[in-house]
Amino acid sequence: MDKSDIYDIFDEGGLLDQHLEGYEFREGQLEMALTVSRAYKEGAIAAIEAGTGIGKSFAYLVPALLWAQDNPSHKSVVATATINLQRQLFEKDIEQLFSILNRHFNVALVMGRGNYLCLRRLQEKVAEEPLIARDGESELAILVKWSQESETGLRSECPIWISEELWSQVCSDGELCSGYQCHYNKECFFFKSRKKAGEASLIITNHHLLFSDAHARLEEGLSYNEEAILPPFHHLIIDEAHNIERNATDFFTVTYNEREIYRLIGRLKGQGSRRKGLLEILEPYGKTEGSVAQIESALTLVAECLGYIETFLLGFMGATKGSSFLVESHHEEEFKALGELSQTLSGYCDNLVGLTLNFLEKASIPEELASREREAIVATMRIAASSQALAKFVAFDRSREEVFWIEIFGGEGKRRIYTHVSPLSVGEALQNSIFSGLASVVCTSATLDLGDDFAYWSSRVGLPLANSRLFIKEVHNSPFDFRNNLLLLTPSDAPLFKEQLTEEYLTYIIETVHEALLASNGGALLLFTSYKMLEEVAQALRPRLEKFSINLLVQGEKDRYQLLREFATDENSVLFATDSFWEGVDAPGTTLRLVVIVKLPFRVPTDPVFRARQEALDRKGRSGFFSLALPEATMKLKQGFGRLLRNTLDSGIVLILDSRVVNKQYGRWMLRALPDSFHPETTTSGVAQKIEDFLYK
Ligand code: SF4
Repeated sequence: MDKSDIYDIFDEGGLLDQHLEGYEFREGQLEMALTVSRAYKEGAIAAIEAGTGIGKSFAYLVPALLWAQDNPSHKSVVATATINLQRQLFEKDIEQLFSILNRHFNVALVMGRGNYLCLRRLQEKVAEEPLIARDGESELAILVKWSQESETGLRSECPIWISEELWSQVCSDGELCSGYQCHYNKECFFFKSRKKAGEASLIITNHHLLFSDAHARLEEGLSYNEEAILPPFHHLIIDEAHNIERNATDFFTVTYNEREIYRLIGRLKGQGSRRKGLLEILEPYGKTEGSVAQIESALTLVAECLGYIETFLLGFMGATKGSSFLVESHHEEEFKALGELSQTLSGYCDNLVGLTLNFLEKASIPEELASREREAIVATMRIAASSQALAKFVAFDRSREEVFWIEIFGGEGKRRIYTHVSPLSVGEALQNSIFSGLASVVCTSATLDLGDDFAYWSSRVGLPLANSRLFIKEVHNSPFDFRNNLLLLTPSDAPLFKEQLTEEYLTYIIETVHEALLASNGGALLLFTSYKMLEEVAQALRPRLEKFSINLLVQGEKDRYQLLREFATDENSVLFATDSFWEGVDAPGTTLRLVVIVKLPFRVPTDPVFRARQEALDRKGRSGFFSLALPEATMKLKQGFGRLLRNTLDSGIVLILDSRVVNKQYGRWMLRALPDSFHPETTTSGVAQKIEDFLYK
């Protein structure tokens, strides 16, 4: 791959110009492609911020494909944070590039194992519930029909959304898989996908699978020349890399999940007349009388112990507000009782495993029930593993490099209780796995740099490495004309939110948003930081907007895909959303002409992992606010801001109803991280007129 190859494709008059409809030459795209190819050739780590509209996916896919052509044995992996982008790369961008380059490359889409249907488990489910499987309307019958037509067996491709309850019983599962002995091995969706991945020179996957793979390599001491969860690979491109820390944290967190243990107990014991348990199925083949009864008693003890643990955790959380709680050293005394319960649980689990293995060892299980036997073993092992996760949690005073926290959701009957142990920093794990183990790593996103030479983002993910490995950092600004096409309004008299949602503050938000939405005639995305505030504002405005035929779409009332589709097709609709909608909403054209940022997206200080990280920085003498809270919120603000202009012709307004952006020094710093737009001074009374003038005059 030479520089000239990149020019031949991206330059004016090049292949993209000749063959891609609507292609516009963008210097930033060409430069990014050159940098990616340099990273490949020089074995570098590269951090590239590519502003919206640069065309970053082509800028990394082309060098990856050219490299694959010259070095077929050196596989590349592209990892995205979202399944949407993963699919877009695989189904659209790669296909377009094949036709433009007039070459075909071996590319595979790889998802986590649990996304694939297991044909053997499906058949077992059908055998268990033949009547339901024959009822054409049932979820199971639809799944069976689809399994006969599907090429991939991917859950996301099934015409209906399969419930978690059913999917967990029929999805591919490494510990339950009988591999080459499986009757369905040749048709197996999961193995077909892994075979393709093994043969491919480019693999498209997601962050979760990438980090699972990295974790497995660390645990088992495997290099990237060997197969782990992914096949051997040498080069990595991480898109949506601003999410690396969050996604890696999720992955490296050890969780005790009470509900999952109850589910496994239910699977072993059965659920009344509704579903036979594994023990009941296997009991007739046992040799020792009473052994199943003993296992059932052991399960009862485990369940009772879970009840005591739940009572303890509820009591502990009772005194706190919110659903999550950070456990600190001074709680050690209070947690002694939980330590004892955890020990008791471990003892019960050991007993359960012993009894189950003993029963199955002596039993003569027929061949056709071998998978049920395996499932019973795996279920008991998983219960025992959960008790180990709790044991790790109760050892909370042993390390300051980990964060110990509790989460409780829902009320009686629907309660979900978790304890978590999360890494205080993911930097070291990422350094030891992907950053030092691979020949080249390119990280890219529309938001990585805050005008600080990537200092914040790098520090969160463990970069740069201590050795002298080449670390390239580059920013390619968006080609969009923000100065002329984006009006930024930041009313300086907007009241400040003060810990509690006050009547006065809420009234201000409701009235200002109402005026702004009438001025824009809908076509707006409202980004909130709290679901409670979103609900209050939505409730107050729904009837008032209806009078003007403005359709209000609210996150949580429909699924994300449906909301975005309705929003994109109804020009006058408005969408109220929080969290995940700050990124990934792509509504080009006039359908989105106003983005309202209700409050600056600072993470709530009660978020346990965040708080622990902030406090750790404070302890080291660095300000947790300036080193973490502020840059993180700025990154998110930049994402929210980036929702508005999606192509060269787009124009519109971003309205920020948080006066800290103009009245506080740190707020002005946040604004400086955004693309330079038209930003006149304003107060609330001038907002509606300015919106109307900008859009309609
Ligand atoms: S090989 Fe494993 S995953 Fe595939 S169908 Fe058989 S049991 Fe299921």
